[in-house]
Amino acid sequence: MALKPLLQHTQLLETLKSAIDQQKLASTHIISGSPGVGKKLFSLHVIQYLFCDHKNNYQACGECGSCRKIQNTQHEGLHIVEPQGAQIKIEQAREVIRFLSLKSQMQPQAVLILEAHKMNPQTANALLKVIEEPPENSYFFICTSSLSAMLPTIRSRSQIWRLPNLKPETLKTIFPQAEETLILSAQGRADLLEKSFSESTTELHNKSFAVWSEKFSSVTVLDEFQEELKSREDFVTLLSLWQQQIRDACFIKSGRPKNVIFSKHQEQLNALTQLSFEQLEKLFCHCLDMQQEMNYNVDKSLMLQNFSLKVKECQSVSLD
Ligand SMILES: [Zn+2]
Repeated sequence: MALKPLLQHTQLLETLKSAIDQQKLASTHIISGSPGVGKKLFSLHVIQYLFCDHKNNYQACGECGSCRKIQNTQHEGLHIVEPQGAQIKIEQAREVIRFLSLKSQMQPQAVLILEAHKMNPQTANALLKVIEEPPENSYFFICTSSLSAMLPTIRSRSQIWRLPNLKPETLKTIFPQAEETLILSAQGRADLLEKSFSESTTELHNKSFAVWSEKFSSVTVLDEFQEELKSREDFVTLLSLWQQQIRDACFIKSGRPKNVIFSKHQEQLNALTQLSFEQLEKLFCHCLDMQQEMNYNVDKSLMLQNFSLKVKECQSVSLD
């Protein structure tokens, strides 16, 4: 099966292809960007071009033996590393070193590392040695959604390419069946959009408004989100939904309904639009703080209760 076409990042792809044509491709690349923006696909397009026997005018032929093997990710010159569980382990770095030592004379070799920020320090240090002195004609494509978590010594030896989030029209092409609300709320990430088709996410969307509702006190809000409190991922999704809803309230208040993501839920946003811009800003910042805190081992229930109290506080002030 042919590689899926790259709908975005095409200019960057040409830059790299042009470097390949001029035999000036750097040996180590970090491909950085949010999850779901196509880092792996981007890398595979570069690698396919690198290996293609009949490349022409910035296009891999897609038909030669090399192209086909890359399409099936079974090329003998390509080694892919993925996290095993939560980590990329030292043994996987050793496999990379073994792979690079099996070098045939003419062929290039490519190592594609996915979610590279999951390398533990030993793995990263083991790889650093080959990255510092890569065998001739070998190339690293290191994909990560967390550039800052990468070892600085690896970063400093790499060319860093940042892939921006996907445009709404790109997401629409990938998921023609997606509604506009879902597309906008996916924030340029195909993985989030794909997930939002699942029933549980739709449920989460509907439920998320409860935090603004006067029906729920800061105690009952905990019951309402009991399930979400159990999963870090769901809670992070909730936080970003709340930010979008606060933004929506600002757009409604300033008479820009076109920018509203949750336009079908205006009624549920009423509780928010009653608040002043200043209060909305305060709540938004609070959401951002919570998002930051999620990087640490925090008590989510306490955090949620606190947030709910802040919401109630704002609501009672604006009633006065
Ligand atoms: Zn080809």
